[in-house]
Amino acid sequence: MAYEELTTMVRESSRIVFFGGAGVSTESGIPDFRGTGGLYNQQYDYPPETILSHTFFTRRPEEFYRFYRDKMLILNVSPNAAHRVLAKWEQEGRLTAVITQNIDGLHQAAGSKNVYELHGSIHRNYCTSCGKFYPPEYIAESNSVVPRCACGGLIKPDVVLYEEGLDQQILENSVRAIASADLMIVAGTSLTVYPAAGLLRYFRGKHLVLINRDATPMDDSCDLIIRDRVGVVLSAVDAALNTKESDT
Ligand code: ZN
Repeated sequence: MAYEELTTMVRESSRIVFFGGAGVSTESGIPDFRGTGGLYNQQYDYPPETILSHTFFTRRPEEFYRFYRDKMLILNVSPNAAHRVLAKWEQEGRLTAVITQNIDGLHQAAGSKNVYELHGSIHRNYCTSCGKFYPPEYIAESNSVVPRCACGGLIKPDVVLYEEGLDQQILENSVRAIASADLMIVAGTSLTVYPAAGLLRYFRGKHLVLINRDATPMDDSCDLIIRDRVGVVLSAVDAALNTKESDT
């Protein structure tokens, strides 16, 4: 019933915006940063929020990179069903944008073009002195040392650390996409991470749908809530879309 309702909504929409969090990537094997079994309770002297702060990065880059290489720089993963369906919907003209809190680049790997990465990406790294860009492999291969540019400058991943502001252009683009969306699908996020909940206030479209295993602060404002895995839901909806459309 919930799946059928979502299928109808998707069929009747042409400006879908998808907003996703860590739960979208867990099906690809990337651990949920904040979930149980996530990064907490592990072999580091500081909590992740401390290590992943701008201050810590500048003061203790060795320790930052030990953690970053170990827990964040995950390169041997593939897009899952959720990423693939969203890329397909964009190509079919149903979906206008993906807004993500994830930094793994899996939406682009699946073929999505219009992706707003609120928290940056592990796939971009730049020299803090001269601005030269480096691929993630360069960070991975600079084993146990702090990655440095040819100019000697410290290289920083283009991910938003604690204490750092979000990219204003990406925020504006996200707001614009949300404000003109007819269907908004929010998935795999508890909506407690800045600026998720604030962005959703710009939505003026018909239906707000939430796909998340746990309750969120936005549950009361949603038209439809599905408590299941994102990839499972989107695959089922996409299959139903194709079945019904080929029948007519
Ligand atoms: Zn440099």
